[in-house]
Amino acid sequence: MVFAAPQLKDALSSLKPGFVVYPSPQGVLINQEIIETLAHQEHVIIICGHYEGIDERFTEKYVDLEVSIGDCVLTGGEIPAMLIVDAMSRLVPGVVGKDKAVIEDSFYRGMLDNPNYTRPASWEGLEVPEVLLSGNDKEISKWRRREAVRRTLTRRPDLISRASIREYLSEKISLVVVADDKNINFSGVLELCGVYKLNRPYVIARDKNLREKLKNLCPEAKILGQVGFRKILESSADALIIKISGGADINSCHTLEIKRRCLEHDGEIIFVFAQNDSELDEIDGLKCYLHERDINLPLNMKIGIALDRLLGIRS
Ligand code: SAM
Repeated sequence: MVFAAPQLKDALSSLKPGFVVYPSPQGVLINQEIIETLAHQEHVIIICGHYEGIDERFTEKYVDLEVSIGDCVLTGGEIPAMLIVDAMSRLVPGVVGKDKAVIEDSFYRGMLDNPNYTRPASWEGLEVPEVLLSGNDKEISKWRRREAVRRTLTRRPDLISRASIREYLSEKISLVVVADDKNINFSGVLELCGVYKLNRPYVIARDKNLREKLKNLCPEAKILGQVGFRKILESSADALIIKISGGADINSCHTLEIKRRCLEHDGEIIFVFAQNDSELDEIDGLKCYLHERDINLPLNMKIGIALDRLLGIRS
């Protein structure tokens, strides 16, 4: 038995027009991004199938999204519809008591949540981790972030590619830009530092005249020569240094691998950018490549693209 198209069309016509969703095992697999997209719609109509499903011609003509809740078959679309409505409702301000709780839940930033505990502190020989009983909010947040990272890396490493990871990294992330004569326009870099919560940028220039010029052009940056830069690196001996280069070579890693390394590293991170890759050769660190297509873009843009790919793809 299959739901017939004319009757479905009549039912649809009796409603205020909206975005039509058909839950079906043959649809795209549901995820948080789909839920967020639906939550932005003014009106969503969910068509619940039964038996063999619905006439394909109706799907072709009137369904905007066919979505599956997983690789199993249910008797009808009602439970998938409830799932969709419930997940959408949590995004409506006020539905969940604390808005922050939604942000920290699994998938909101693209990562899994940390494990949760409540009283009693000891139960059937199992203890609540000591740090959670310490009352030290800063240490508790750190523990939560570390556990969320550990869970995501071990259980769902596939999520990392689309996760916004800035909140899971050390507070101390610095940007170093190696300047040359041809590239002294850093407009936007400070704003990027604000967006991604990075420290005030360091700009490195070998040439003294260039340093003077840069001091006037970007007074907010810390302008240094080679010696100053070396000192910064020496004082950050445990930092993870990531050199962003134009194209791939035998020693460079994909942005996804760099994202994973950043999550594994529990401490300071320094991103180093240069227009010319040869400037990076003398610096020890992991090399991360951008797509070839991005090589000739102005440095500001490359910095924006790299930071977006590495620290936050989900909006
Ligand atoms: N003949 C269909 C097939 O093999 O793909 C299965 C139809 S199923 C028995 C009946 C209805 O349950 C579907 O039309 C759909 O609305 C709903 N349904 C079943 N499994 C689902 C799933 N994994 N995700 C979303 N909806 C599902």
